[in-house]
Amino acid sequence: MTTEKVLEVFEKTGALLKGHFRLRSGLHSDCFLQTAVVLQYPEIAAQLCKELSKQVDYEVDVVIGPAIGGVIIAHEVAQALIARAMFGEKRNGEMILRPGFQINSGDRVLVVDDVLTTGGSVSKLIDLTRQHQGEVVAVAFLVDRSSTPIDFGVPQFSLANINVSTYHPEDCPMDKAGVPIVEP
Ligand SMILES: [Zn+2]
Repeated sequence: MTTEKVLEVFEKTGALLKGHFRLRSGLHSDCFLQTAVVLQYPEIAAQLCKELSKQVDYEVDVVIGPAIGGVIIAHEVAQALIARAMFGEKRNGEMILRPGFQINSGDRVLVVDDVLTTGGSVSKLIDLTRQHQGEVVAVAFLVDRSSTPIDFGVPQFSLANINVSTYHPEDCPMDKAGVPIVEP
């Protein structure tokens, strides 16, 4: 599945909007990505995650993602790789395992998320895995929209790459062109 094909699926389901948007950060952007919108279709979620899992040529015991965005990804990728699916939750800035989940010493762990932006949650999950003596074999994302490459120190996979242009309001070319802005 090519990046184009993946993004076509996102656009068709309304998960990828093109236009002129005011982001929560106050910056303006030419596209807006909401993976939950594409993941509401279980068949498409399964298909995308199966495609992603094909890239991950490792034996994996556990697939873990950060709540909420990474929960479905972890579940569907684990289904494809025949592994356990877990998620981490943020509590007071810390990433913790939900009570009952267990990463065992020596477990081979794949860390996943829906979108790679800054990688903060994924880095925390890598640390959490290592605290439990798990071995992080790779990280994988449906969409990589990071503006500068992020090195997690392990192999990294993504199904699609997308360049999202963001602008400060005073430099925004769409404002200069008089394009109405939308708050998604
Ligand atoms: Zn603008």
